[in-house]
Amino acid sequence: MSIPQIINTILAKIPADVKLVAVSKTKPKEDIIEAYEGGYRIFGENKPQELAQKYNDLPKDIEWHFIGHLQTNKVKYIVPFVQLIHAVDSIKLLKEINKQAEKNNRVISCLLQFHIALEETKFGLTIDEAKELLTSEDFKSLKAIQIAGVMGMATYTNNEVQIRNEFGHLKSIFESLKSDFFIDSPEFKEISMGMSGDYMLAISEGSTIIRVGSTIFGSRY
Ligand SMILES: *Cc1c(COP(=O)(O)O)cnc(C)c1O
Repeated sequence: MSIPQIINTILAKIPADVKLVAVSKTKPKEDIIEAYEGGYRIFGENKPQELAQKYNDLPKDIEWHFIGHLQTNKVKYIVPFVQLIHAVDSIKLLKEINKQAEKNNRVISCLLQFHIALEETKFGLTIDEAKELLTSEDFKSLKAIQIAGVMGMATYTNNEVQIRNEFGHLKSIFESLKSDFFIDSPEFKEISMGMSGDYMLAISEGSTIIRVGSTIFGSRY
């Protein structure tokens, strides 16, 4: 199947209100153009300079999502045009996004990343850390960022029960933050979870955004 055919097959399987981010990281521009010419407009990348280069070289009506770990010194490369930053996990990073957003006269939508998997990783908040962040004075002073929801990655395993529990956990984190901090914030509505191997499971647990790379563009070497 061609790239557009694969995208259409996925779109046909998922509810209309779930957003598919086609993860084009490491893939050449030609692959994105193929998807674009088939009508697709929503792509995700995880390296700031690679994303900025692709933004520069490709049509300007593409909606770009930044899905990976973002270092503060690289925020400036993507803030002028990015639609959503998926993996924010510190007040330091939020402050830098806010600063660059002000420079660009933009308000940037961000998701808080949570650590829901068994694997050890430096990235992602716990619920307590998120609550501390959201109640801090530093956070309240940021006017050029908007928290649009949560994001997480399940353990890399074949154990569907495990994966389902982790996605369910992220959904419960979302509900808890919604009621404690965002009850009057309609923009706090996204749960970004689900990749090539587990996106249907993620949707059944409440995902609103799936991030699918290798199923669409082939494996990355
Ligand atoms: C690479 C990546 C994806 C896509 O992974 P696939 O398994 O290729 O679909 C999704 N989310 C994040 C954060 C990624 O880094």
